[in-house]
Amino acid sequence: MTTETIETRGFEAEVARLLHLMVHSVYSEKEIFLRELISNASDACDKLRYEALTEPALTADDPGFRVEIALDKDSRTLTVSDNGIGMSKDELIANLGTIARSGTSAFVEQLSGDESKDMSLIGRFGVGFYSVFMVADRVHVVSRKAGQTDAFAWESDGAGTYSLGPAERATRGTTITLHLREGEDEFLDPWRLKRIVKTYSDHIALPVILKAVPKAEGEDADDAAPAEDETLNSASALWTRPKADITAEQYTEFYRHIGHAMDEPWATIHWKAEGTIEYTGLLFVPTARPFDLFDPKRQSRLKLYVRRVFITDDCEALLPGWLRFLRGVVDSADLPLNISREMLQESPLTAKIRSGLVKKVLSDLEKRAADKEAFAAFWDAFGAVVKEGLYEDFERREQILKIARFKSTKSNGEWISLADYAERMRPNQTAVYFITGDAAHIAKSPQLEAFKARDIEVLLLSDPIDDFWTGAGLDWDGKPFQSVTRGDIDLSQIPDAEDKPETKADNAPDAALDKLIAAAKLALGDAVKDVRVSRRLTDSAVCLVADNGDMDMHLARLMRAAKGPDAGFDTARILEINPGHPLVKALAARAETDGTADTLADAAHLLLDQARIVEGEIPTDPAAFARRLSDVMTKAVA
Ligand code: ADP
Ligand code: MG
Repeated sequence: MTTETIETRGFEAEVARLLHLMVHSVYSEKEIFLRELISNASDACDKLRYEALTEPALTADDPGFRVEIALDKDSRTLTVSDNGIGMSKDELIANLGTIARSGTSAFVEQLSGDESKDMSLIGRFGVGFYSVFMVADRVHVVSRKAGQTDAFAWESDGAGTYSLGPAERATRGTTITLHLREGEDEFLDPWRLKRIVKTYSDHIALPVILKAVPKAEGEDADDAAPAEDETLNSASALWTRPKADITAEQYTEFYRHIGHAMDEPWATIHWKAEGTIEYTGLLFVPTARPFDLFDPKRQSRLKLYVRRVFITDDCEALLPGWLRFLRGVVDSADLPLNISREMLQESPLTAKIRSGLVKKVLSDLEKRAADKEAFAAFWDAFGAVVKEGLYEDFERREQILKIARFKSTKSNGEWISLADYAERMRPNQTAVYFITGDAAHIAKSPQLEAFKARDIEVLLLSDPIDDFWTGAGLDWDGKPFQSVTRGDIDLSQIPDAEDKPETKADNAPDAALDKLIAAAKLALGDAVKDVRVSRRLTDSAVCLVADNGDMDMHLARLMRAAKGPDAGFDTARILEINPGHPLVKALAARAETDGTADTLADAAHLLLDQARIVEGEIPTDPAAFARRLSDVMTKAVA
């Protein structure tokens, strides 16, 4: 390597921050660096194996994929080498100089500067390649891309810059040499390395080999040093092994490897499907939400293998969007090996596998739902995503409704099922009632008052998706979902709650109410669709409701927020007034004596604005609202 051609480059700022943390690491499980290196080597071999399907020349000279680990006690180096796809110069820059991976950037975003806090985050995120700087003060990478003759060397001490220049490498692949820090000699101990590989990388489907240490003439045999090359792992694809032979730890490590995750799997589903199409599925439900869960692309990250050859992790057609949180592997012998990624999306075989996966996962979830507490953790993390299926997956709706969990006016913050809800339905109840909106406010909505008075449970739905699936015409046991903020709801056939206080029926007289309503309609004009006497309210004076057939109010609000105020989502609402409320009664009395009083017009506007505010909206004309409110307050205190 000639010095002229070696360039020095600065790390991207975020990488520099991350490296600083690695270099000063006090993390107790530093050994994970080896898992990261082996995991990368395995990914690199998978990628090349796939490329070679269409371009066999790429691997013709050296078809046996493997990872080799070599120790050198004298120079205190540990080397991990693979014959995978390798990296070009540009790829070295992009992959080892920036933060390309969403998990890592999420990690960096959460860094607080408090070292012990930040180090504990590593356990949750994983930091990939950069973890080598926890144990090495200098790292040297030589890589040669398959199909190319040039090799490049990358080197860094982790302190802000790296160097890049030409190098020699006889064959394709990547060699990573770690110059171990003072005090990290444990990673030169073959026994220690064997244990690390067994713990973290046993599931890796290619051999991880510890290279023999050549003995110098006359030297005593070192028991620990391997006299010949030794394969340290099982080197068979984990999903092909019988379930009984796989430990929970092995599943976990495999999940972390393929899911690029750091948590424990919440559920592991491993099965072999036989029938019209055969495949093996090994799927994991994560415990924690992956970072890209709400990415607009809503893509699944399953890895598809055909006869143990990795094909793609980018096949949308394999899983519906509402199961995109799943991680894992599907391996089928029935798909052609040379299937292109594009063909896969269209293939009827893919559709068959997809439907098999969905069925398996749903029935598994249904079983797990019996464990209330454990299932609550799942639903907390992924319920909002699963509910997308109620809207999108017509065929699976009923099954999804069975596992769906909800909070309600009676659930005290716990998740309940629709079966729980149905059990508590009141006599003559004909619908499953729900309200959508902000979690913080919906429980206090005035539209719920009559439901409380009759002890009727109402589902409190606060995920944006709830506004969509609830409009999709679903029912539970023949009972339709009914929004409490829409249409004219008649609860008169349902008995009062037992503990409901005796109320005298002292509503304002009908004639007076009619006059008040006429005056309010005149004053409000187009600002409302109608003004009417409410059957929903017991305590509040007014509320807004959506007319039957109009878009519900919370959905319209979401649409306005997404599409802008002029996109046509500002339908006029119905203003309902509570005939038993003292203010309404007083206004009705006033309307009876003088239906055209200015006070009535001002009151109508104030009541409408008040109803809007309770809905989480702002008054139509905030300045006029403020003026009117000041006027009434002045009169009240004068
Ligand atoms: P991740 O594996 O999650 O993508 P890493 O930090 O572990 O993140 O690696 C970053 C990238 O560097 C990889 O995505 C890959 O493109 C590249 N890379 C790392 N090690 C190797 C290797 N041994 N062979 C080829 N490419 C590699
Ligand atoms: Mg990696």
